Amino acid sequence: MGYVDKEGVMSSIDCNNYPCLVLNADYQPLSYLPLSLWPWQEAVKAVFLDRVNVVDNYNKVIRSENYKMMAPSVVSLKDYVSQDRAPAFTKFNLFLRDGFKCVYCSNAEELTFDHLIPRRLGGKTTWENIVAACTRCNFKKGGRLPGEVGMVPKLKPFQPSIHQLQAKGRKFPPNYLHTTWADYLYWDVELEK
Ligand SMILES: [Zn+2]
Repeated sequence: MGYVDKEGVMSSIDCNNYPCLVLNADYQPLSYLPLSLWPWQEAVKAVFLDRVNVVDNYNKVIRSENYKMMAPSVVSLKDYVSQDRAPAFTKFNLFLRDGFKCVYCSNAEELTFDHLIPRRLGGKTTWENIVAACTRCNFKKGGRLPGEVGMVPKLKPFQPSIHQLQAKGRKFPPNYLHTTWADYLYWDVELEK
């Protein structure tokens, strides 16, 4: 650890705004949306535990009694985290799968969930039976089947893979991007043109 010194400088660390981008061992972000970020404290801890490589730094020195180092801005995990597992069945991931739009009218406002096959008819709360729907469409459909009301979802609901969600997430760039992150987030943009 080349950063450690024995100066014993007082720790007056004022860098809560130094989030660190976390990459998998293959240098892909662990997650695009929400973007995998750690507070700098986590990143420093992981460095000392030898769990990550520092890929890039902020131009900011952080000090404590025992060490002085540059605040990491990008780290990569030493052990690869498999992305082949099924993604969590969460509100957020479901909206992400459906592109944060109503599957009936593409409205992005006031999103809720619709059971394609209504619960009263035995419809389950699963990836295959839940879609994002705006409150208006949800109300219009009521507890009926899509065919009964002529409301056909533009997207057949399915269980996405992590890779599919990652691809969707890339279309929603975070509001804040540190310059050192760009290479790891959108490194293939040129190739796609
Ligand atoms: Zn709608």
